[in-house]
Amino acid sequence: MASVVLKNIYKRYENHVDAVKDFNLLIQDGEMVVFVGPSGCGKSTTLRMIAGLEEISSGELYIGEKRVNQLSPKERDIAMVFQNYALYPHMSVYENMAFSLKLKKVPKDEIDKKVKEAAQVLQIEHLLDRKPKALSGGQRQRVAMGRAIVRKPAVFLMDEPLSNLDAKLRVSMRAEISRLHRQLKTTTIYVTHDQTEAMTLGDRIVVMKDGMIQQVDTPMNLYSSP
Ligand code: ADP
Ligand code: ADP
Repeated sequence: MASVVLKNIYKRYENHVDAVKDFNLLIQDGEMVVFVGPSGCGKSTTLRMIAGLEEISSGELYIGEKRVNQLSPKERDIAMVFQNYALYPHMSVYENMAFSLKLKKVPKDEIDKKVKEAAQVLQIEHLLDRKPKALSGGQRQRVAMGRAIVRKPAVFLMDEPLSNLDAKLRVSMRAEISRLHRQLKTTTIYVTHDQTEAMTLGDRIVVMKDGMIQQVDTPMNLYSSP
């Protein structure tokens, strides 16, 4: 687990769009923070800068004690879950979950233990031999989360992970993510445009507008503020 600190973070794209302006936030160890706001307000850009997928124009970014501005995604202790799952289609569920550990040359028996542990947590043990195309949307989402969990990162980054699911599945997966967070207590940053999702998942909610933070508070305080 680790805290995440964003200090005076700015992002200007090459086309001169100022996507993020003076973003300041301290995310505590083990906290789940949700970025919410309309399409185009800069949520995804901020998350991608934390992930190392997008260069920071100016400002300071820390994960734990470490300044990570110049580090590649692999050098940051993070795992990201995307809305399109990004599973490898030619690999089984098992291989999808094992892949990042294999790259890190983790011994096979240890990989096996970690994959099976994560599969148990996510209740996908019976799906390990399947290819992604033989899975439902909800199952794919579980595998995508499983792939993140096996790495035991200090920080989870989730970009609209439920937006491709139908309404009913969204509600049950939301509960699942909540349960996982209580169980693993991994520092999590979760991006959504869905206010209900934000209110049910976040320990704190960051409301963004036009690349800036409009409000940061607990769901309770946001709910009762005018
Ligand atoms: P959100 O995730 O809240 O929908 P984004 O972070 O995707 O918002 O986008 C913020 C702003 O940056 C928008 O105006 C968007 O058009 C712009 N933007 C996003 N990605 C790029 C890019 N690669 N190049 C130029 N502008 C971009
Ligand atoms: P490689 O291609 O490097 O041989 P595999 O992915 O085929 O690696 O599997 C390595 C080990 O992982 C196997 O010996 C087995 O113990 C375990 N394994 C692979 N697939 C499954 C699965 N579906 N369920 C349980 N264990 C599996």
